[in-house]
Amino acid sequence: MSGPQPSAGDASVATLRGVGPQLAEKLAAHGLRTLQDLWLHLPLRYEDRTTLTPIRQLLPGMPAQVEGRVEAVERGFRYRPMLRVAIGDDSQSTLVLRFFHFRAAQAASFRVGKRVRCFGEPRPGQHGLEIVHPSYRLLDDDTDAALSASLDPVYPAVEGLGAATLARLIDAALQRLPPNDALELLPAAMREEFDLPEWREALLVLHRPPPDADIAALREGRHPAQRRLALEELLAHQLSLRRQRLALKRNGAQPLRPRGRLAAMLEKSLPFRLTGAQRRVLDTIRADLAQAQPMLRLVQGDVGSGKTVVAALAALAAVECGAQVALMAPTELLAEQHLNAFRAWLEPLRIEVVWLAGKVKGRARSDALARIAGGAAVVVGTHALVQDGVAFRNLALVIVDEQHRFGVHQRLALRDKGQEGSKVPHQLVMTATPIPRTLAMTAYADLDVSAIDELPPGRTPIQTVAINTQRRDEVVARIRAACAEGRQAYWVNTLIEQSEESDRPGAGARIEAQAAQTTFEQLSRQLPELRVGLIHGRMKPAEKQSTMTAFKRGEIHLLVATTVIEVGVDVPNASMMLIENAERLGLAQLHQLRGRVGRGATASSCVLMYQTPLSQLARERLAVMRETTDGFRIAEKDLELRGPGELLGTRQTGLATFRIADLVRDAPLLPSVQALADRIMTDSPALADALIARWVGSAARFASA
Ligand code: ADP
Ligand code: MG
Repeated sequence: MSGPQPSAGDASVATLRGVGPQLAEKLAAHGLRTLQDLWLHLPLRYEDRTTLTPIRQLLPGMPAQVEGRVEAVERGFRYRPMLRVAIGDDSQSTLVLRFFHFRAAQAASFRVGKRVRCFGEPRPGQHGLEIVHPSYRLLDDDTDAALSASLDPVYPAVEGLGAATLARLIDAALQRLPPNDALELLPAAMREEFDLPEWREALLVLHRPPPDADIAALREGRHPAQRRLALEELLAHQLSLRRQRLALKRNGAQPLRPRGRLAAMLEKSLPFRLTGAQRRVLDTIRADLAQAQPMLRLVQGDVGSGKTVVAALAALAAVECGAQVALMAPTELLAEQHLNAFRAWLEPLRIEVVWLAGKVKGRARSDALARIAGGAAVVVGTHALVQDGVAFRNLALVIVDEQHRFGVHQRLALRDKGQEGSKVPHQLVMTATPIPRTLAMTAYADLDVSAIDELPPGRTPIQTVAINTQRRDEVVARIRAACAEGRQAYWVNTLIEQSEESDRPGAGARIEAQAAQTTFEQLSRQLPELRVGLIHGRMKPAEKQSTMTAFKRGEIHLLVATTVIEVGVDVPNASMMLIENAERLGLAQLHQLRGRVGRGATASSCVLMYQTPLSQLARERLAVMRETTDGFRIAEKDLELRGPGELLGTRQTGLATFRIADLVRDAPLLPSVQALADRIMTDSPALADALIARWVGSAARFASA
């Protein structure tokens, strides 16, 4: 077993022939610094130039290589320069090659009768199939141009570097691949047990797949060579997270062992009793807090499961011990909602609750800072809490809500606001994004996970229907009737027109806001007897806040909103949720939006309006939404329905991104990863070091723990 000593892969790219300082810099800008970085710069896909396909047999959407002779050339300038080259072959069919960008010499080189070999993806054009911007080569009549012997790799582009140069560099790096023994980290027994090829072989197969390689498996990312690398990468990340967790645990924390007087008082004042699940999770948290090691716990609870009160009761454990608690939420709206809940619950117990957000400025801010430094019991706020200048006197517990909106870094930064010496605060992270268990163990390997898997009683289940947009008038009539009975409704407007413009950063929010504005005006006209409100992401926080408050007070009947409507907003009297163009949203988002209703005692409903035609995927999603309201089942389904590549990535989970692994595609590997990590943590610390060094590296993508 090799230790973490420097290996051939650590050599700089500058040691390759033809790589000067400038090129090395370009490569470095894309994270390509060492030979190993090039080895792991794997093809995005492959092109099969090992055969020629007769034009007659071409299929739209199936990339293929074709050879034929130029039959006609046409240059046009209708809207923009255009070059069309018709080629024909022995199969008596014609294929059009179409170019929008070309040089004059290039256009002139296509002479009628010239032999052309090209590769690309045919699609239906005006006159039969055409390929736009094929890669091509003009051949002399007498050359006997050989076909490729293996699949051609297509690499992810590196800006400022031609595809051919990049391929050549990777080739040169592969020449320097030492024998397997010099690089292999996984012991032979382990490879056998999990049916994994050797490291060297896996890399070579992926860069230069032999002609008989299972292309379908490669395309779907389930080739043994891909599995080998993905498993190793996931394993390395898992080990790294577990190491960090151990390091954190070693820091020590203030044990919180209250008699429970304050919590008992709060519980007595609540208008409800805790559910079994809330009580169970609370007991676990209390046991964690009593330890002299920091708690590192994630509480997952479906929307409406009552996480806030659990957080408040946990906070009281610290308060009763004379320590401070910080509660951080990702948006001002959410943080303020927590502030209101905490004040309502805690101020009757004479517990000080301080507010700190970005908009708290001047005197108010210095006053808040002074109270925090002076030891105020509970501080609620946004990420303003982790800024410089915020100093606590005795911070013992950090609570973070809706974790997926925060990066791991922010969570760690708040931890650093801890006490003097090496002690760190206990950490409680709450999220309403249910993720399947195996995924949770990977995404949150540094946290213990528990779930509030029961909703408070007395909630009538949400009725969900899917309705064609053409029946919009019926929907409007339903709202009129519901609001006449004193109910309130949300109308969520998703981005309707996917224009080129909407791809530009920031444009999405603006267009969404405009669409919501239009809907707002339309509904205000159609429902003159109702008070209609509007909330969208482009409004100022103060405007959003006052609209939200009015909706909470029942002064607004119907609230038109964009999908930015905050996760976690709690208005129990709102019992109708309408989602326009529901077919465009993913399951997780639909579930979050639906979770805004069904919070009170009235029967709630959710109307998913869709536009036809529906894709198969959209149809399945809507079906899942009709069938179940269980967040965990929806999460499982989501994982199943998502295609590879549609990652549950950094933004959603606060996870580092992977080079090769794909949490969705590689979910079946996760149990093996867990089992291996268990074994390596106890038996082979040196192997753990080597794996972490290879994949996570010194880059320390997480703040050091
Ligand atoms: P979430 O888990 O989505 O953050 P909240 O904490 O906002 O949910 O709780 C949703 C609503 O349910 C709140 O109005 C809260 O007061 C109420 N609630 C919490 N626990 C219970 C319970 N055990 N019984 C009844 N209502 C509860
Ligand atoms: Mg919440």
